[in-house]
Amino acid sequence: MAGLPAPLQALIDAFERLPGIGPKTASRLAFYLLRQPEEVSRQLADALLALKSATTLCPICFNITLAGQERCEICADPRRDESLLCVVEEPLDVLVLERTGAFGGRYHVLHGVLSPIEGIGPEQLKIRPLIDRVREGKVREVIVATNPSMEGDATALYLRQQLLPLGVRITRLARGLPVGGDLEYADQSTLLRALVGRQEL
Ligand SMILES: [Zn+2]
Repeated sequence: MAGLPAPLQALIDAFERLPGIGPKTASRLAFYLLRQPEEVSRQLADALLALKSATTLCPICFNITLAGQERCEICADPRRDESLLCVVEEPLDVLVLERTGAFGGRYHVLHGVLSPIEGIGPEQLKIRPLIDRVREGKVREVIVATNPSMEGDATALYLRQQLLPLGVRITRLARGLPVGGDLEYADQSTLLRALVGRQEL
């Protein structure tokens, strides 16, 4: 798109780098913002800047939390059962599971899955801290809630192999989740069924 003023083109380019946004949508968003009062852009800009500067990873579960907090809300909540640990791929999965309102335990976010093709091994994920956490002895059951994909399954099996010697119960979300799909696309009732019907891994 030649001929656009540089600031407009820069915003379109930035939008295009986001997942799920093609050139058309990127242009539509940029032109939309151009028509709005400056306040709209300012709020968006503030939120974007704060996104990185005001958030951090919880040092216990590695979920996203407010910068400066010692631990996230879930880890700090004494009502959450610390004997039950749900392992997920991404912070977004925590949000999705929390929406079911059916899980009263705690979480551990891996920040990805094992993928030899992409060069992602156990060291690139938060697996070591998970093992250390379980080794502390308070966890009785680890629910592996990685996505029902090839990598998700391989990661689950790897975790099983690592955690089994520690004497904890290891379960996996029941089938019924769309194979190859992400947890985030599962509807709440499907996810609830998968959680309740979890099986030994
Ligand atoms: Zn936490």
